[in-house]
Amino acid sequence: MTGPRKSAVTGWPVTHSRSPLIHGYWLKKHGLEGSYDRCGVEPEAAEAFYRSLPEHGLVGCNVTVPHKETAAKACVHLDDAAKAMGAANTLWLNDAGELCGANTDGLGFLGNLDQQHPGWDNRHDEAIVLGAGGAARAIVWALLERKFSYVRIFNRTFEKAQIIADEFGAGSIAHPWDELGSYLGKADLLVNTTALGMSGKDPLQIDLANLPRKALVTDIVYVPLETDLLRAARERGNPTVDGLGMLLHQAAPGFEKWFGVLPEVDDELRALVVKDLGVQA
Ligand code: NAP
Repeated sequence: MTGPRKSAVTGWPVTHSRSPLIHGYWLKKHGLEGSYDRCGVEPEAAEAFYRSLPEHGLVGCNVTVPHKETAAKACVHLDDAAKAMGAANTLWLNDAGELCGANTDGLGFLGNLDQQHPGWDNRHDEAIVLGAGGAARAIVWALLERKFSYVRIFNRTFEKAQIIADEFGAGSIAHPWDELGSYLGKADLLVNTTALGMSGKDPLQIDLANLPRKALVTDIVYVPLETDLLRAARERGNPTVDGLGMLLHQAAPGFEKWFGVLPEVDDELRALVVKDLGVQA
């Protein structure tokens, strides 16, 4: 392909994605000529689309719902995270023109905590993960990579937590939601990955009384930026990290693959996205 390199966020729909804002910021900051757009791909066309990215003028792309599993299937090579999750959110072509896929959600989660609360994983005995959806799967994988001894998964639908625990094996354990109170007392980290607490959704109602004050509390919901969970944790003295940085950090590896520069998540980018979301900083 000749001319400026082009990437895009693909999915169905892609209208609400903040990825063009994030990659557009980095392209401008680094004075690069490429572009990053939105590209809606209908479900029936998805697999063929990913198998023929250059025909669509793309050197790679991000993949969002509902195509992450389809994209992984279309790849010739997958990184460890995408293999473990059976889902890819970042695609690129290697020098041989073969389609490669990564799942960067877990890296984005870790990158956010590393940046916002360095040393957060010095104590890594017990993590509690609320939720068992796609994001939870990536986060359980990431926490096991960081050598947490126990990653306890609590979900409304217990069976979904059990499926993740069975897949990831030693260290990941599924629990019924109503057992949460008995396990909070030993947690080093509490993560909300459910959609609860997001603007327009039901609140997340949990009692933090047993949680050690040193435990880090993070929420991957970022609208609002400070969820009720984070506010309650902060008010009782726990350190907290909001979820916006996960969105920003998960984007960086793709930018490097497509445009050749590993970009930084800096304050200016964060402020830009905060403004666009219309959330209180
Ligand atoms: P998902 O696959 O649809 O999973 C949703 C999770 O929320 C499931 O565990 C589900 O429980 C739980 N849930 C939903 N409504 C509930 C309710 N009324 N009561 C109890 N549990 C409920 O979604 P996802 O992709 O994992 O995303 C989850 C959240 O994370 C979303 O808010 C998303 O915007 C956010 N997110 C943020 C980032 C970031 O970069 N910060 C990245 C990915 C996702 P059941 O299994 O029982 O249905």
